[in-house]
Amino acid sequence: MIAANWKMHKSIRETEDFITSFIPMVDVTDVDILIAPPFTSLHAAARLLYKTGIKLAGQNVYYEEKGAFTGEISPAMLIDAGCSSVIIGHSERRQYFSETNEIVNKKIKIAIKNGLDVILCIGESLEERENNKTFEVLDKQLTGSLKDMQLDKITIAYEPIWAIGTGKTASPEQANEAHAYIREWLKKYNPDSGRVRILYGGSVTPENTRTLMAQRAVNGALVGGASLKPESFAKIVTESKS
Ligand code: PEP
Repeated sequence: MIAANWKMHKSIRETEDFITSFIPMVDVTDVDILIAPPFTSLHAAARLLYKTGIKLAGQNVYYEEKGAFTGEISPAMLIDAGCSSVIIGHSERRQYFSETNEIVNKKIKIAIKNGLDVILCIGESLEERENNKTFEVLDKQLTGSLKDMQLDKITIAYEPIWAIGTGKTASPEQANEAHAYIREWLKKYNPDSGRVRILYGGSVTPENTRTLMAQRAVNGALVGGASLKPESFAKIVTESKS
């Protein structure tokens, strides 16, 4: 899977322009492509992506079905707007909006209950890596976020915080090591978890996609900055298959 996280970028018009250019640039066989635009662009994106095989995702969701939660978006609203998936627990949500593993767990549960697939983001900070705490952090995030959960609707995105938007990509070995740890963790949690995909995220570009995707334990990518231009994101999709 190659997924685009546009964060707080693109108007409705820019979303439409991107998708119109992007569709003829990619072949959706052998790779799941997913785009997560801002909420305001979801409906426009859904209309253009209809029957293309390219999936649409929300970047966040709230953990209640409905009610007095000003500014929040429910899982049913995401589905209504055309989403099949949602990104949950991105490090920017954890960092700037105080999302804990407990909140992430509640969000995943309600998303799945409503029929959404989930991309769960986890990853360590630079300080945690330098203090040899990477596996400890991943264990804590996985344990808290996936508590009492079936895994069949889940994709994991390993995104070391120090690599997000910094231009500092994890080396293929670092990515593979973390992914292998996550794979083992999932296997212990549920021996049938072999189909859960583990994506790498953090300064993925067309230039580094091939070596990252060549790692045994890496099953795809979650792309921020380099997904904002159709040519660049299409190149990442193509490189991921080579
Ligand atoms: C992200 O936000 O999920 C991400 C990986 O961003 P970037 O590719 O810009 O590092």
